[in-house]
Amino acid sequence: MTQSLAEPIARLIEEFGKLPGVGPKTAQRLTFYLLRQSSDEARALAEAIEDVKEKIIYCGTCFNLSATDPCPICADPSRDRARICVVEEPLDILALDRTGIYKGLYHVLHGSFSPMEGVLEDDLKIRELVARVGNEPIEEVIIATNATVEGEATANLVRTRLRAARVKITRLAQGLPIGSDLEYADDYTLSRALEGRRDY
Ligand SMILES: [Zn+2]
Repeated sequence: MTQSLAEPIARLIEEFGKLPGVGPKTAQRLTFYLLRQSSDEARALAEAIEDVKEKIIYCGTCFNLSATDPCPICADPSRDRARICVVEEPLDILALDRTGIYKGLYHVLHGSFSPMEGVLEDDLKIRELVARVGNEPIEEVIIATNATVEGEATANLVRTRLRAARVKITRLAQGLPIGSDLEYADDYTLSRALEGRRDY
């Protein structure tokens, strides 16, 4: 298919095609859409992609993606510093914060415990979480991993590692669809899950 296309076009289609959720048809559509845009608009997109790689770092405290370290959440004095909500991915923070119910801090594990897929405990930011709970005046750790098998295994592991810290541990209430990722849950369901969190 791409043999009859000019090389730069074929190349962009190929690059778009590597993105998650983008099939060949969409990759073609995005490419031809960009071809119709002005150079300025195309450049703005290219620069945004470059910027995200150059300027975004991990917050050294919560491991959220951020342009600053500490990130705006960790640096915000109005946050409830006695609570840490543990999530798998940075996007989960977005979903939970959008509910407006939770005003505490976060901790991003960057994945879920899944030995079958080669994700082991040391690949997750669990040790860093335990250190935080030991060093900061934390009263409650809310485990908000996904409602999946891996999310449950991760929650279990985190709880085990925090046992010695004698901190209150809670888990989001059931109600999140089983097998679902937090980031796709609607605000209402997430708010309910937060409010109904139970001892874990
Ligand atoms: Zn942070």
